[in-house]
Amino acid sequence: MSRYFTEKLKNLTPYTPGEQPKDMQYIKLNTNESPFPPSQAVGEAVLRESQKLQLYSDPESVSVRERIAEIYGVKSNQVIVTNGSDEVLNFAFMAFADDKSPLIFPNITYGFYPVFAELNHIPYTEKPLKDDFTIDANDYIGANKTVVIANPNAPTGIMLSLDEIENIVKSNPDNIVIIDEAYVDFGAQSAVQLVDKYDNLLVVQTFSKSRSMAGARLGFAIGNKSLIADLNTIRYSTNPYNVNRMTDAAGAAALVDNDYYMTNCQTIIKNREWTVAELEKLGFEVLDSKTNFVFAKSDKIDGEKLYLELKNRGILVRHFTKEIICQYNRITIGTMEQMQKLIETITLILEEN
Ligand code: PMP
Repeated sequence: MSRYFTEKLKNLTPYTPGEQPKDMQYIKLNTNESPFPPSQAVGEAVLRESQKLQLYSDPESVSVRERIAEIYGVKSNQVIVTNGSDEVLNFAFMAFADDKSPLIFPNITYGFYPVFAELNHIPYTEKPLKDDFTIDANDYIGANKTVVIANPNAPTGIMLSLDEIENIVKSNPDNIVIIDEAYVDFGAQSAVQLVDKYDNLLVVQTFSKSRSMAGARLGFAIGNKSLIADLNTIRYSTNPYNVNRMTDAAGAAALVDNDYYMTNCQTIIKNREWTVAELEKLGFEVLDSKTNFVFAKSDKIDGEKLYLELKNRGILVRHFTKEIICQYNRITIGTMEQMQKLIETITLILEEN
């Protein structure tokens, strides 16, 4: 750290992204990416726009917003698009949380929430999950704070029901409830259908997982039009061209090919069910995932040891050192071939152990 880093930020602990080692070719099951490439039209759109990089992108991302609006049954002024959903989460924290409306979120959840809270000097409360790793909706009912819930949650993969989400939103009319649906397309129910009923609900989604665009950085949020206007005030005060020309075009093309992506999600769900069954046969305890990853532990092997053994054999999964979850590994669901290789490798590791 330089001696110029400001007093107010020098204690900031940044987010740690999943590792991307370059020493060998790994089967990458550690950052919840899609194993499927983007559709052909997406590649063509990127190539086309790459010839126009001398021009700024559309600061309104009109075509992406209109297509999102059509697919999700809302108006385009209820949609904002951003540089990954991380960006809109940061904007939402900046816009809707402060000393008077502090944040509340689970103690085991997406690791960026406390980072954005600290970056923006917003006080926050972390509520423990129940013993079975589910979120206790009662902790958030009438919380009188800005609520952030990943649904399904990460890294557990467990979802709350739409009724529970609605009860949380309904009981906090003076605060914003942010529902982060990064993984919703893999079998959970979206709260988007509630945005016209509750003006305090903001639903955040991403193209990174179900739409195979993690490297392009495209996220969005849907809510009441005045919430979206507030988020645009933040966006135009930071970076109006937050979505680059190629990503904007890629997003619009991906939405035209929505069926391709939703079919891929069904394949991931099938591969997930297979993987869960195989892990259970090997004696693993696997949480009930509605995402493109599973969170699993075994009494037969230490969580970190399994992570390291898999890495030595060319398979990357995500291990967290936090004590309550350090026996688990978060394993992204890939292609059937990748999952077969994973199960074969874990079988060998357990035999040798
Ligand atoms: N929310 C959750 C729960 C996530 O796991 C992630 C991915 N790391 C994100 C949001 C952010 O995804 P992105 O910025 O790629 O849209």
